[in-house]
This record gives sequence, C-alpha cells and structure tokens, in this order.
Amino acid sequence: MNDNAAASKPLNFLEEIIETGLNEGKYTSIQTRFPPEPNGYLHIGHAKSICLNFGLAKKYGGKTNLRFDDTNPVKEDTEYVDAIQEDIHWLGFDWAEMHYASDYFEQLYEWACKLIRKGLAYVDDQTLEEIRAGRGTVTTPGTNSPWRNRSIEENLDLFERMRKGEFADGSKVLRAKIDMAHPNMMFRDPIMYRILHATHHRTGDQWCIYPMYDYAHGQSDSIEHITHSICTLEFDIHRPLYDWFINQLDIWPSHQYEFARLNINYTVMSKRKLLQLVKEGYVSGWDDPRMPTICGFRRRGYTPESIRAFCERIGVAKRDNIIDYSLLEFSLREHLNRTALRRMAVIDPVKVVIDNYPVDHEEMLEAVNNPEDAADGMREVPFCRELYIERDDFMEEAPKKYFRLALGQEVRLRYAYFVTAQSVEKDAEGRITCIHCTYDPATRGGDAPDGRKVKGTIHWVSARHAKEVEVRLFDRLFSTEAPDEAPEGKTFLDNLNPTSLRTVTAQAEPALLTHDTSRFADGIARYQFERMGYFCVDKESTPEHPVFNRTATLKDSWAKSNK
Ligand code: ATP
Ligand code: MG
Repeated sequence: MNDNAAASKPLNFLEEIIETGLNEGKYTSIQTRFPPEPNGYLHIGHAKSICLNFGLAKKYGGKTNLRFDDTNPVKEDTEYVDAIQEDIHWLGFDWAEMHYASDYFEQLYEWACKLIRKGLAYVDDQTLEEIRAGRGTVTTPGTNSPWRNRSIEENLDLFERMRKGEFADGSKVLRAKIDMAHPNMMFRDPIMYRILHATHHRTGDQWCIYPMYDYAHGQSDSIEHITHSICTLEFDIHRPLYDWFINQLDIWPSHQYEFARLNINYTVMSKRKLLQLVKEGYVSGWDDPRMPTICGFRRRGYTPESIRAFCERIGVAKRDNIIDYSLLEFSLREHLNRTALRRMAVIDPVKVVIDNYPVDHEEMLEAVNNPEDAADGMREVPFCRELYIERDDFMEEAPKKYFRLALGQEVRLRYAYFVTAQSVEKDAEGRITCIHCTYDPATRGGDAPDGRKVKGTIHWVSARHAKEVEVRLFDRLFSTEAPDEAPEGKTFLDNLNPTSLRTVTAQAEPALLTHDTSRFADGIARYQFERMGYFCVDKESTPEHPVFNRTATLKDSWAKSNK
C-alpha cells in the first residue's frame, strides 16, 4: 500500500482509541507488547497480533516490547523462546525491550503479600475440584471456602511457607478475596498462585509457586508501562479483573483492549493441536511447509511481505470471523509476481522430439527473467531436438477449447518456436512415451514473421540439458473447511487431507540451479515456475539433490492464451 492509500484508509477502532488518547493528552506516546507463552511455535494468528502491536507502535511513534509470558514451567522451553524471536525478526519487526514475566516473580510475590495485608487474598486448602465446585455457575452463586476467613498473619505465614516449598503440589493455593456471588465468574475469588514443584526454563528451582495468567499479565504490563495491552476477544471477561488487580495494588494503570482473533479456514490454530500434529508425526515438524506456523509458512516459501500485507488487508475486527485461505495466497502471489524470477520446469514430463530439427544442433534462446521488472534482465535457455513438456499439455485429439499441443495443432514453445504435433509413440499400456513434432524455423523467439497466431503457449525444457529436481507439491493439510468441527467420536485428526503432500521428480532448465540467495532478505531462493506456480528452495536441498517446495499454484487458466 502506498502512503496515500494508507492515509485515506479509515482508522480501525484501536487507532481511534489511540488517537483520542493522544489528543486528550492521556499519554504522550504509546507502548505495546507482544506476549507469547513460550510453549510452542508461533502461528499465523500470532502474526496478526505481532503486525498489530508493532504496527500501531510504529505508526504512532511508540515502542513495542517482546515479553515471554512464562508462568507455566511445565510446558515451556527455551527452544520456543529462540524460535519465537527468530520468527518475529523474520516477519520484519524488532522489539524495544525483551522481558520475561518470570523476571517479575519477586515483584509479583511482594504485591501478593500486599493484597494479603489489605485483606484481599487468602490461602485456600481446598483441592482444585472443591474450588471448582464452590464457584457455582453463571446462574447460581458460589459458596465461600471454609478457609476464606483466615487471619492476615496466618495467610502471610502460609504464603511464605508455600514459597519455601513446605507444601505439596495442589495442597494449597492463594486466592483473591473478592465476591463468591459476583455475576462475573472471574471475580469469584480467582486463584492467584498455585504450588508447582517444577523446574522453570529460566528460574530453575528458585520458585515452587507460580502466578496464574490473570494475576501476572496486567501487573507485568503495568511494570513495563504498557499503554495498550492488546489481546484477543475471549479475554474481554478478564478485563474487569485485570483492572481490579491494578486498582487494588495502586500501580501504573495499563489498559486492556480486545480484538477478534484471526481464524482461517482449512487450518487449526491452537498450539496444543499443532503440538499434537508434530508429536504424533502427522507432519515432519513445526516447520513442515503445510503447518500454519510462521516457520512453516517460511519454509513453504511465503515472504514476510506477503504475510504483513495479508494482516493489513484483513484489518482489525471486533467480531469473530473466518478468513478465507485464498486471501493469504492472493497476498503471496501479489508479492511474488513482482519479485520472483521466472524459470521453466516440467513437473510431469513427457518427451518431445522435433523431427525436422538438426540432430546435433543446440542453441541458446533469450528468456525474460521477470516480465514485471525489466531491470531483472534476460537469461539464456538451451534448446535442442529433444524436449520435455507437461504430460497434460498434450492431447491426441483436442476438444474445442483445448489450445495446447494436439495432433495437427500448432502451439508456441515459450521463447522458442512454433511446433505442431505429428504423431505419438506409446508403450504396451497405451501410455504416450514420445510426441513427434515439427517446428517452423522462422518463428524463432516465439513469433511468426507472416503474422499467423497460435492460441496456446506452453513451457518446456531441453531434455539434453535438463536437471532433475525433487518437487514437493503441497496441498491443504485439512480437507474440511472447519477442521476443529469433528463429528461425535472423531477429532480434528480425522479431517486431515491424506494427499496433502505429493513428491515428484521434475525436469528443470539449468538456470534454476544457480541461486541468487541475496534476492530475498531471508536468503531463501524463490521462483515462479512458468505456468506452474511459485516454488522455493527447501532447507533440505543440496546441489547434488535439489529440492523445491510448491508455495502456491498460479491463478492461471490455461483455457486462455498464456502469452
Ligand atoms: P493458542 O490458543 O494458539 O495456543 P495463545 O493465545 O495461547 O495461542 P499466546 O502465546 O498466549 O498463545 O499468544 C500470544 C499473543 O498472540 C496473545 O496476545 C494472543 O492474544 C495472540 N494470539 C494468539 N492467537 C491469535 C490469533 N489466532 N489471532 C490473533 N492473535 C492471536
Ligand atoms: Mg495463551
């Protein structure tokens, strides 16, 4: 989007809130944060949150922190901490400061003592089941815990001994003392701390009590003076509690704002489910090119520009919706159409022999690297008597709208010559093994001096010069639009697409194997295989065994002329 378009775009609701606050002098600059829990890899939904948090700060001259919300030692790991940083950088963002909620454990503990001293927190000896049962329901009030009226001194003592490790996991919790009949269930004496004798990826065994999300998040925002704590809609019922802790502690007033989470059809987007796909081997890893993770999209060949453009395009909503996967592909094609070099590769090859072409002759033909940018120049493509074309670019008898190669029908070989199919050879099963053609030498470069036209243009590679490459053809990981919605007795795993990966050996023009890895900032080489789609070099690719991933097909209709 150019600056004019950006300027004329209406403000989203968060921008309106920010501009109002700035105009009213509520703050002089804004501070946002992206707060992932390091319990998995980031997915495309997180990308939305990243673009939003970093994008707003950038637009209004503010700052964004990266904060690891690492309050649950059992599920967290430094592997995830590292991967999250790599993914944010790859997306094109950098944080002002990096923090960990675990850095605030001591402060959070002191604040909990303060609430105890104010009579606003108590140690409860009930089991989790008892606590759950005592909370009541939306329509019935909860019941007070028998431990709710412990003295402040007893609570302070017990809480300190919880910290010291005197009690077993699950034997006690610290709860806020609010109102067991409150209409907002969040206020029915929410748990602030639980006992967990687990080794934390950063604090080791220093702590055996850990704060809950609701007690840790707002206070961490407050410590960092976050002006706009942006989270997804399901947290709106947590907001009053977020405010309650900040008010009772009388600390710097951060505020929470909610927007609709990103949902995309044909995908699942919960880290728990993504972890299950990885652990149970349904995919090759977190960066499997079919995964909706940021590293999966990266390996698939998506560019950071296309993901950012996608997030910009879908905007910020206040109501949940489902975005069509094709919108993501649209953003990708729009970027790669401008930036990817064109190469020819034949994915399902069938041999062609040009009978009237000199047997030993070879020549180099000029081909455009990128029709969208003349500065990308030309390349040379070798041509000889034997070629490969796509098997489905030929039919013995052409139906009415079939403009590609057929017996007696003339087509253009892109950048080369007009050819006409004359006869075919077949194997015992009737499968075509070779197509015999004739060519018109006067059409070199792809145009006839007599002005005659052909309706079809097909791609090809010289069989003598072709390089074999492995091509991984990816399709959607799930075959149903809403994979989370599985019928009784089934799970999202039953919605996996059994043919989401097909591996083939393709024949490619030699220029495909000399990569300019500086063309894209992330060093990944990406191409348009003419007429076939966008492809990138996979991380497993070697010069001896090149491997390409199909990022997306072209929005291409072969029924029309391709030239
Ligand atoms: P999941 O439910 O997939 O496990 P999460 O919300 O538990 O994700 P966090 O690491 O807590 O993951 O998320 C970090 C930030 O990213 C949070 O602010 C969260 O609101 C935001 N986020 C997570 N999923 C989405 C989504 N689908 N769309 C937009 N923002 C999201
Ligand atoms: Mg979370």
